[in-house]
Amino acid sequence: MTANLEGCRFFIKTFGCQMNENDSEHVAGLLIKAGAAKAPSPEESDIILVNTCAVRKKSEDKIDSFLGRLSPLKKDRDRVIGVLGCVAQLRRGELFKKRPGIDIIVGPDHYHELASLLSQKREGKLLKTSWNRVWHEIGSAETFRKSRVSAYVPIMEGCDNFCAYCVVPFSRGREKCRPAAKVLAEVQDLAGNGYKEVQLLGQNVTSYRDQETGEDFAGLLRKVSGVEGIEWIRFITSHPKDISPEIARIMADRPNICRQLHLPLQSGSTAVLERMNRGYSREDYLEKAALFKGPMPDIALSTDVIVGFPGETEADFEETLSALKKVEFANIFSFRYSPRPRTAAARIADDVPLGVKRKRLIILQEVQKEIQLARNRTFIGKTFQVLCFGESQKGAGRYSGRSEGFQVVNFGSPRDVRDRFIDVLITGCGPYSLHGKALL
Ligand code: SAH
Ligand code: SF4
Repeated sequence: MTANLEGCRFFIKTFGCQMNENDSEHVAGLLIKAGAAKAPSPEESDIILVNTCAVRKKSEDKIDSFLGRLSPLKKDRDRVIGVLGCVAQLRRGELFKKRPGIDIIVGPDHYHELASLLSQKREGKLLKTSWNRVWHEIGSAETFRKSRVSAYVPIMEGCDNFCAYCVVPFSRGREKCRPAAKVLAEVQDLAGNGYKEVQLLGQNVTSYRDQETGEDFAGLLRKVSGVEGIEWIRFITSHPKDISPEIARIMADRPNICRQLHLPLQSGSTAVLERMNRGYSREDYLEKAALFKGPMPDIALSTDVIVGFPGETEADFEETLSALKKVEFANIFSFRYSPRPRTAAARIADDVPLGVKRKRLIILQEVQKEIQLARNRTFIGKTFQVLCFGESQKGAGRYSGRSEGFQVVNFGSPRDVRDRFIDVLITGCGPYSLHGKALL
């Protein structure tokens, strides 16, 4: 079935992680290839697609209310409303009953055929959420990227780890890896088109294995870092149980691999980590962090933390706080535990009261805020290379970008430096960003 969407206008709303952002770029690219055009708002479009995230209850609730707000748009015009992503995969047919305005539900394994599915005239609803064990290649030519200098490059998808709290193995399925040759071809193509930064993406990039050659993530990273023209390479997400000394060595050795690493801790208590089925202890985590901090004292480590996992005591929570103080993360993403469908933890009592979870989250964020403020103050007076992503909200002459450590830097510049690397003298900071002036 060929895809023909000539004359159609589409709008995609994306919730969730970088994987979803990249999937939306693929979907947009494929719809454009089939003849459709982007619309600036849901009201002005014929096809509205909502790419969803199911990782926490809060994200699912937010998406549900967004879908509710779309319902009136069905009345004034013949539009197609589609739900993609993790909620589509997880809730499937249930969604049609809850939100009758939805026409199609398509899971992450079917985006390559989405344009042709949308081209078909059909009566009734369409549901496509079956799993497939093969990698469906969607290349650079079919990707509509938001940035002209920074690109996501998926290398694997899915998760086989089954952490007790996490819905991802059920919403993204089993791990599948993209052939290394395809990854390299895409990175080379990006370099040829002037891209300066690539972010290798996967739920667990450190589980990567090329099906044909058996090459692991360290090998792939080394090859990607050999591509001329790409100045900054990042990767997300690494799992502490799989991250190897070899990866630290490559990172320390190659100037084009950013000294930045997201390494989710989840809890600083070994007892909680065990119940979470994370596969490492507090000590293992601290050792892994030291593998990177030792040879690269300036590395920016970031992490994810869950508070209030079932059975978490005050003493467990204190261990999490002490781990934050030990590692001195540049940034953290912290969440209150919420039970998710089909997960192992959903079958045990969610016994930490909401008030306690809230209090722990506030304390944790306060502790981290002080760590970040102290860390950021040490940067005042230093010059950072920054990749500028655009004007800041502060208006004319003010720009925003990210440093090698992935920190937001807001700065003044007499010239438009969007999409360029620029040296910025750091003159001040808050806990969450740095500010300064461009050295032109
Ligand atoms: N693949 C990554 C993260 C995936 S989900 C990893 O292995 O760490 C992103 C983050 O959401 C997780 O790191 C975790 O901190 C948080 N999260 C996942 N499930 C959650 C739940 N049920 N309640 C609260 N936070 C959760
Ligand atoms: Fe979820 Fe754990 Fe897999 Fe990360 S490793 S996606 S937290 S199950």
